Amino acid sequence: MGGKLTRNITRRGLDDTWRDTIRRRDKFRCQICGRGIKSTKGGKGALGNVHHIVGKRSNATRWDIQNGTLLCIGCHMGGVHSPDSIRSSDYIGRLRRVIGEDRWAYLERLRADTRKRSLAEIEEELKRMK
Ligand SMILES: [Zn+2]
Repeated sequence: MGGKLTRNITRRGLDDTWRDTIRRRDKFRCQICGRGIKSTKGGKGALGNVHHIVGKRSNATRWDIQNGTLLCIGCHMGGVHSPDSIRSSDYIGRLRRVIGEDRWAYLERLRADTRKRSLAEIEEELKRMK
């Protein structure tokens, strides 16, 4: 058993769990502007995305619950990921004030941590959070 397919299915499952956990934790509200986000496909509210605050390249940051925050599309694609660098720094600054300096500092350390974590380790962490 194992192999690439199993790993991809596991990764997709972890991505989904990570996203759902954060949407619930953030109570279906954009964490920057406070707009209500749809909790179901046909539900009321704006479309939202779960944003990776310090990126998702390493598996240390991809599935850490502290590294996720729920944003509306406007604050996500038109804000923190805006191609206008003045606008994106403004939104990143707003997000930093919302999450607080302790969590921000933790995320900076997480990004610097290049230690590899196994998928099994990460699955265990997510199970504990549910
Ligand atoms: Zn917003």
